[in-house]
Amino acid sequence: MRLHSLRARIALVFVLLMLAVQAAAFVVINSVITSNAHRNANEQLAVAERVFKQVLRSNGEKLTQAASVVAADFGFRQAIASHDEKTVASALRNHGDRIHADIVMLADLDGKLIADSSGPAHEGMPFPFPKLLRAVERNGDASAIGMIDGRPYQLVAVPIKAPLPIAWVAMGFVIDDDMAREMSSLTSLDVSFIDQRADGHWTALASSLPAAERRALQDPSNLSEENYATRLVLLKSEGEPVAVMLQRSLAEALAPFRRLQTTLLLITLAGVLVSIVGSMFTARSVTRPIAALTQFSRRIGQGNYAEPIDVKHHDEMGELANAFNQMQHGIAERERRITELAYMDRLTGLPNRALFNDRLQQAIGVALRAEHPLSVMMMDLDRFKYVNDTLGHPIGDLLLCEVAKRLRSALQRDTDTVARLGGDEFAVLLPTDDIDAAKLIANRMLKALEEPITIEGQLVDVGASIGIVTCPLNGADMNVLLRRADIAMYVAKRANAGYALYDERHDQNSAERLSLMSELRQAVEHDQLTLYYQPKVDLSTHKVKYVEALVRWDHPTRGFISPDQFIPFAEQTGYIKSISRWVADKAIQQCSLWHAQGIELAVSVNVSARELIQSSLPDTFSALLRKYRVAPEWIWIEITESAIMDDPNHAIETLDRLHALGIRLSIDDFGTGYSSLSYLKRMPVDELKIDKSFVMGMFDHKDDETIVRSTIDLGHNMGLKVVAEGVESEAMLLRLKDLRCDLAQGFHLSRPLPPAKLEAWLQEWQESAETA
Ligand code: C2E
Ligand code: CA
Ligand code: CA
Repeated sequence: MRLHSLRARIALVFVLLMLAVQAAAFVVINSVITSNAHRNANEQLAVAERVFKQVLRSNGEKLTQAASVVAADFGFRQAIASHDEKTVASALRNHGDRIHADIVMLADLDGKLIADSSGPAHEGMPFPFPKLLRAVERNGDASAIGMIDGRPYQLVAVPIKAPLPIAWVAMGFVIDDDMAREMSSLTSLDVSFIDQRADGHWTALASSLPAAERRALQDPSNLSEENYATRLVLLKSEGEPVAVMLQRSLAEALAPFRRLQTTLLLITLAGVLVSIVGSMFTARSVTRPIAALTQFSRRIGQGNYAEPIDVKHHDEMGELANAFNQMQHGIAERERRITELAYMDRLTGLPNRALFNDRLQQAIGVALRAEHPLSVMMMDLDRFKYVNDTLGHPIGDLLLCEVAKRLRSALQRDTDTVARLGGDEFAVLLPTDDIDAAKLIANRMLKALEEPITIEGQLVDVGASIGIVTCPLNGADMNVLLRRADIAMYVAKRANAGYALYDERHDQNSAERLSLMSELRQAVEHDQLTLYYQPKVDLSTHKVKYVEALVRWDHPTRGFISPDQFIPFAEQTGYIKSISRWVADKAIQQCSLWHAQGIELAVSVNVSARELIQSSLPDTFSALLRKYRVAPEWIWIEITESAIMDDPNHAIETLDRLHALGIRLSIDDFGTGYSSLSYLKRMPVDELKIDKSFVMGMFDHKDDETIVRSTIDLGHNMGLKVVAEGVESEAMLLRLKDLRCDLAQGFHLSRPLPPAKLEAWLQEWQESAETA
């Protein structure tokens, strides 16, 4: 148990509290016991003093009575009178013996000893206790302590009267250890008789104490109060002061209390022990659920929401555990929701790009390890923007949902993934399919989309283009696969083929395009791009007033690269922006140069779909016009029909702004897109360019001729100039002239040329026109 843990602290507080309480109780009870013992001892001393005095008094009375009996004995008196010393001595001895007196003495009235039971040595000497005699004379009787031959005695004296006093008889008990012990047994105290010497020291005369402890009596003030309760009683004495010391051994007095104290101490210790165990148990019961909750929170922290915590208690801990469970549930739910949002396409409920990439990455790993193929399809709806813009976003959304539904039902295996990558772009992961299986599925998907789709009563016609790649055939890297699927889809779209497989051979240029990517970046910076110009000839006047600028890439190792090979790629990678800027700059500059030389040419610049959506396009052009001081009517912009139809509303907005600048607009590759007349009418267009495929097929296909003819009529009806591109022969030129086409552009007239060569061509053209 760590010391700073909650558990240890709770236990410690409990134990300390318990200790404090126990200690206080112990101290109080102990002091009560001790003071009680002292009081008891003192009371015993007081009682003992009374008993002692009573014993002393009764001893005195016993002596006095015996002495009185002697004094009253007639024979004895006669023996004294006749100086019959023998009789006197034996009478004294007899009477003394009767009460076990230790000493019997007879003194004459002058105070001289006549007889002494202790021996004849003292006869003739003065009686040693004259004060005693005087006290008896005064009071009738008296008792005193006196020393004879260094031994203490309790003495009494009685006069012998015949009838007048003729002598004194004195009797005494010796005060010795026996007497002290007797006293001690009566009082149940230690009794010591002590006298004070001339030098102030006390000596023990007799004592019930063992010899070793007697020495301590020399100075009673030294007697330790800790060991004894004492009382000093001064006795009446002749000569040195004599006292009796009553002692109560506190050890003995306390003995019964000591047992009580020991018991108390044991109880206290047991209490402390119990409280330690109890507090540890309590602390554990408090901290154990906390530890469990801590463990649980860690698990939640690690994202493990599998099992809820077991709620065992119905107290606050139980509530907390419940709250944790709710929290876990809430977190899991929110996480699930977040994951859903992060990995789901909200509109269609399909997996989104992030999830698709995750699954693809995983599937690639599995496929490589298991050595089986996997296929990826990229799908893009045709004409989705058109639907979106003509019928509105809500219909567009419903269309996407319907497409998602159909795709899902076309892919019935759980292992397959259909995802919406964004916009009208979908992707399919077939984790175990080779190219043939993928083709079958692509066909199924296309078929599913061919079924008429009716949304809110409107029939919506969408097609799709699908690009297919297989791993490891087309690469084993996720990004490479996705890019190649995209390229294949692009190929399918261009070819209007439904689906296309990524093919290195046919897609040679795509592969090249991939490797060209970094080189393309440098093309602009390293001045590898040039502009060629192809004239448009006026079929009625034969004059050349318009040229189209066409970009060329003069690659340092590959030579000239056709824009068809890098413009689509530049569009995909977004690099088209820099190229377009460069082209616009160069073309407008060239236009300005020609005008300065007196060559009045209007220059057409091609703008790709991607830029049309960019609202900065008009600003770019107006800035360049100002920079090169070129009048806006000298600049034309060609936009392909399909670029406009990708996002017509946006396109119209940008075209309006360009037109407002005074720039002329031309619809390129007309006939290949799906433009509706209603759009065409809304657009500020000046020119239609019939796509070269129709012009070139004019003599071989009746349809193509019809298209050329009706386009010319349509253009004229709308007040537009009509240009035919791809004019490769004189016959074509004449036919177009017949059809009242306004302008012609094609190899038959001139290939696209660099400016200097174009100038030379113009010169030549003019001369031949003049001669004609
Ligand atoms: P486009 O705008 O339709 O340009 C006409 C293309 O037809 C040019 O190919 C031109 O060389 C070619 N052409 C002209 N007369 C004939 C002919 O009699 N017979 C045949 N078979 N072809 C003829 P080019 O220069 O290779 O350009 C291809 C496409 O590249 C262009 O088609 C245009 O869409 C794009 N492009 C060219 N330059 C630019 C540019 O500066 N910016 C953008 N965004 N795209 C450009
Ligand atoms: Ca063009
Ligand atoms: Ca064209």
